[in-house]
Amino acid sequence: MSQDSNKKRTPLAAGNWKMNGLKESIAEIAALDGLIENNLPASCEILICPPFTLIMSFQHILRDTKITVGAQDCHWQEGGAHTGDISAIMLADAGCEYVIVGHSERRSDHHEDNGTVMKKAEAVINAGMKAIICVGESEKEREAGATLRIIENQLKNSTSKAMSSENTVIAYEPVWAIGTGKTASVKDVEEVHNFIRMLLNERFGEDGEGFRILYGGSVKPANAESLMSASNVDGALVGGASLKADDFNGIIDAYRK
Ligand code: PEP
Repeated sequence: MSQDSNKKRTPLAAGNWKMNGLKESIAEIAALDGLIENNLPASCEILICPPFTLIMSFQHILRDTKITVGAQDCHWQEGGAHTGDISAIMLADAGCEYVIVGHSERRSDHHEDNGTVMKKAEAVINAGMKAIICVGESEKEREAGATLRIIENQLKNSTSKAMSSENTVIAYEPVWAIGTGKTASVKDVEEVHNFIRMLLNERFGEDGEGFRILYGGSVKPANAESLMSASNVDGALVGGASLKADDFNGIIDAYRK
């Protein structure tokens, strides 16, 4: 496996709970905290992005722990007449440190284009948090050999010069691997992550090396170690397996040695 100098970047293990979780899930997050405290220290940051309804209670439980809380989306404006929406400053006020933007489910279910994703990411940064910008190709696009072209287009048009490695994380999530149990091979992951690194270097100069690039798509305890040690993979964005404390902790094990 080819290696890069990525181990200077602090990896991020991020859980995306999507539209899952009720008050009773507070027990699961307390269990995760127990596992993190009682195991060897992990050399990664740990983040959970619950639905909006659980942010404040998770933040309360996780204050002074090694787990930070984030959100899954936001509006790009600070406030106003946007029924049902939540702004970045509201999320910062609730204690979030990260916000995921441009997840493929937002891009498809809510028709979010790259320009919208960029505005949301800028709102997150302006509110003092970090944006996790998702990119990824569909199965059809991969089969047509268009993967790198799609990634380049999404990355160029969802990021702006205002972004830096301090305030922005990129997540590569092949759409066909999300929630399907299909995982991209380490070789395919490395090809895309190395390509994203090159694009970041082109766009952000020296700072391009500092951006973390997460892999997401059916990451599980069984495949985490091989995926996380791949070139230019600086952590994981985890959906289903982040809902269970044991499974998410098993993924974090990739950073315990
Ligand atoms: C995700 O929601 O970003 C994701 C990668 O989901 P899963 O891990 O379930 O494939």
